[in-house]
Amino acid sequence: MFENLPTSALDAMDWRMERYQPYFQVLNEMTLTAENVSTWLKGWTQLGDLVMEVFARLAVAASQNTADAEAQQRYLSYVESMLPPLQMANNILQRKLVESGLQPEGFEVPLRHMRAELELFREANLPLFVEERKLATEYDKIIGAQSVTWDGKEMPLAQLQVVAQNPDRAVREQAWRLAHERYLADREALNALWVKFLDLRQQIAANAGFSNYLDYCWKALGRFDYTPHDCLSFHRAIEEVVVPAMVRLLEQQRCTLGVETLRPWDMNIDPTHPMQLSVDPQPRPALRPYQSIDELESRAETIFRNVDPTLGEYFAIMRREGLLDLANRPNKAPGGYCRTFPVAKRPFIFMNAVGLHDDVQTLLHEAGHAFHAFESAPLPYMQQREAPTEFAEVASMSMELLAAPYLEAERGGYYSAADAARARLEHLRNMITFWAYMAVVDAFQHWVYTNVETAKDPAACDAQWSALWDRFIQGVDWSGLDEFKKTGWHRKLHIFHYPFYYVEYGLAQLGAAQVWRGALSDQGAAVARYRKALALGGAAPLPQLYQTAGARFAFDAATLREAVALIERTIEELSDLY
Ligand SMILES: [Zn+2]
Repeated sequence: MFENLPTSALDAMDWRMERYQPYFQVLNEMTLTAENVSTWLKGWTQLGDLVMEVFARLAVAASQNTADAEAQQRYLSYVESMLPPLQMANNILQRKLVESGLQPEGFEVPLRHMRAELELFREANLPLFVEERKLATEYDKIIGAQSVTWDGKEMPLAQLQVVAQNPDRAVREQAWRLAHERYLADREALNALWVKFLDLRQQIAANAGFSNYLDYCWKALGRFDYTPHDCLSFHRAIEEVVVPAMVRLLEQQRCTLGVETLRPWDMNIDPTHPMQLSVDPQPRPALRPYQSIDELESRAETIFRNVDPTLGEYFAIMRREGLLDLANRPNKAPGGYCRTFPVAKRPFIFMNAVGLHDDVQTLLHEAGHAFHAFESAPLPYMQQREAPTEFAEVASMSMELLAAPYLEAERGGYYSAADAARARLEHLRNMITFWAYMAVVDAFQHWVYTNVETAKDPAACDAQWSALWDRFIQGVDWSGLDEFKKTGWHRKLHIFHYPFYYVEYGLAQLGAAQVWRGALSDQGAAVARYRKALALGGAAPLPQLYQTAGARFAFDAATLREAVALIERTIEELSDLY
């Protein structure tokens, strides 16, 4: 619609809202009709794509070099100067479209989100959101300052995780206690912060006309295709199906370790991932999948080509066009992510590869997100491309499972048959324990936001967390560790930062397991369904996205039982391989 807008975001890196305002003005002033609404939406998309790509490019640059003060400043000033007026401009256009009563084709789902956003919008809440972000920053500050002295060296808690590889149980216990004691030292501060969060969230819900935060949040998160009740069913299904499977799994871990009871430090050291099985029951050196980043990339490309030639080609494009920044180096931000450049119609993968299997797993995961971006790029309107997390994580988690059979060097990957089996076993075991942990986190939040007054007493939260821990986490001996156990909710960032945001991963993992199951009988057909579902972006409701991918968007014990049975069967097969 706008022919004089830059066709590359690189030509708009210094554009600020004033430059965009005249274009927004044109959209504001148009009289919407059934004939012109498509052109109008495309014009809005042109603006939105440009702004978002500049945003993404500045964010990538800032994370690529945290020591580059100018890059940090450019990013922050963009966020500060662009976000508020952009939200206002978008809000006006949303209102215009919704009030027009028009129903553009393929826009039912985005319209549903817009209507909800408009319904929830209250000017009085804007400063409260700012306040909520500040509280989140306070949480980050408290956690970020946590360091411990280990082996005479002061180090951040995250670095203690290497001790999980130590075969000496007493040493692991010492590290585990040290890390958890450090969290306990901040108990009062975190409790005080928690009460502030709850007061604020209660006020936000009240301002929007809701008597409880759960109902408000449900709408704000755009959860139209499932109810709080469905989540409670999911918890029960996990209790019935996953918990016994986890007990069997942990019993194996206990036997292999040759210990009387399995203690938390026989699983992991990291307080933020208490159920991740990182301790190797038969101490072996860590897997070393590759020697150079080029090797990491080229073997990944072969794996993706084996999964599907087009997906392999997407990855090749990313390599050719410099859209991968995989190697760890000084001053790189931590973690890994995939971002989209919507004007260029390309994704970008950022991570911190250090030569371990985790890097391979992260790359497979992020590549799934990248393929989602490629497949959904042709959708004409930006609002159609925003896939909900409940499905975006199906794209990434499925890719981890679809790629798994090719981890062997003989099939294009990185490992001997035995090592590939070891890598896959670790992944599958953690899928089981993750569901159980996720259920604790989600059930806790359901309790909190339906009992806010009670939950303002941190001791009540401790008791509730502890009860949920006993319900879902079995097979691990936490006796004598009560204070650590009941304060587990302090160590889960999502509970403070992103209320209710966690069940998405549990649901997506169930979707991914079903996609994988399909691939075992016919890989070609399963991957074709997967790609077709990715191409829908966020333009279809969740049940349809799942169905197109060959899965059911499910919360029930029967679906979960099939997935868990497949995982357990595969674990058994792989265990025979070494
Ligand atoms: Zn992801």
